[in-house]
Parts: sequence; C-alpha cells; structure tokens
Amino acid sequence: MSTPKPKDRRTAKSAMQGRGRGATGAGRKRPACLYTPAEVHEIFRRFSVQRPEPKGELEYVNAFTLLVAVVLSAQATDAGVNKATRALFKAADTPEKMAALGEEKIGAYIRTIGLWRGKAKDVAALSEALVRDHGGKVPETREDLIKLPGVGRKTANVVLNIAFGQHTMAVDTHIFRIGNRIGLAPGKTPEEVEKRLMEVIPEEYMRHAHHWLILHGRYTCIARKPLCEKCIVADLCNWPGKSVAA
Ligand code: SF4
Repeated sequence: MSTPKPKDRRTAKSAMQGRGRGATGAGRKRPACLYTPAEVHEIFRRFSVQRPEPKGELEYVNAFTLLVAVVLSAQATDAGVNKATRALFKAADTPEKMAALGEEKIGAYIRTIGLWRGKAKDVAALSEALVRDHGGKVPETREDLIKLPGVGRKTANVVLNIAFGQHTMAVDTHIFRIGNRIGLAPGKTPEEVEKRLMEVIPEEYMRHAHHWLILHGRYTCIARKPLCEKCIVADLCNWPGKSVAA
C-alpha cells in the first residue's frame, strides 16, 4: 500500500466553502467537507451498489499474515507483495513459525520487495513481540498494534478494519488524493483526512468505506487524468477540474 504524496495539485479548495457537516466558521484555513450529509450518503450508497463486497488485493490467510502483508506493502505494489508472500506464508503463517524462521530466512523470501532488509527485520521482531506479549495473537486495538515494530497508524487501521471489522479509515495515497481533490475530506496530512472522513461518512458505510475509496482511486479517480466520464459520482463531484458537466 503506497503512502500519500505531499499534495494533490488541483483541489476543490476554492469551491463552495462551508458546505456540509464538517463546515466550520471563520479562522479555519482549509475548507471542510464540500458536500452536504445527503450528498455524502448518496456517494457511498452508489459505491455500495457498485461494489457490494469490496476486497483488497493483498493476499493473506489470517490476521497475522494480513498484518505482515500490510507491513511489507509500504512503498510496494500489492501484486509485488503477493508474489513474495505466497511462498513465505506457506513456510510461516503464525507468529511462532515466523519468529522461528528468523530475519535472514524471511529476507530470502522477500528480496524482490523494496526495502526488504528493514522489512525482514520488522517482520521477525513483530512476530517475536506477538509471541512474547500477546500469546501469539494479533491485538485488536490500535494502541497495541502501533507498539509493534514496523506498524504505524495506517497499518493498524487496515488490520483493524479488514481482520476485525472495526470502523477505521487507513488513508493511503489514493484516499489522500480523493479527500483533497474532490473536497470530501480536505487535509494537509493523512491524519487530518482520516479525521474528516470519519466525521462525514455515514456509520452504515464505514465497514467498507476504506476499500471503496481505494478502489475508486485506483481505477477511476486516478492520479494523472481521472476517468470522470466513467465515474458513478461525477454528477455529485465538486472538483473544478472534472472532465464532465455536473
Ligand atoms: S468526477 Fe472525476 S474527479 Fe470527480 S470523483 Fe469522479 S473521477 Fe474523481
């Protein structure tokens, strides 16, 4: 999973400032959500019809292998990670087996993934920590997850959402871009975008919102030239640069 780039050049920043639930009064530099609650609801209703059961593209067999796959996916493609983890997870699908494998052997499996040396070290260390501190189980709180080597807030949010069904929002490069580009959740940092998305997305859609936004960003609202003519929310979108009329 890739990390957000610093800025999306054209955003809906200037448009319709003050609309929606996240609207704030004077003194706030960045605009809040540019959509009314009814519009946000409609955007996610359409995503839910388009992809009723959205799935991520990382391969895993349990919460532990999901955690490892997400750690390995930093600055790497899901396809590249899957290629390496198929053999790795056959050799070790529990923290105990992974810790026994050790850093060097883990490294041999993941050598095709960028930053593999550091990642092998993290995977070995986090496996040891899970065995030592959590009885070999992946913890179900963000607080515990982010204490594990190589695990940041985004990784913890992905695991909590996918493995445990919690309503978290892991802001990757696609979600960061969409939040700013269309003014759904403007923010300078992934944390700001995360906070705003958590405020505006209706509870009933939070279970899958993370996947819907990633897939929308990966296949439609892409970085360079978004495919607005194929977009199911084009009529609602407030991005001034969109290539279809409202
Ligand atoms: S209309 Fe274009 S810019 Fe707006 S959400 Fe759709 S793809 Fe993205």
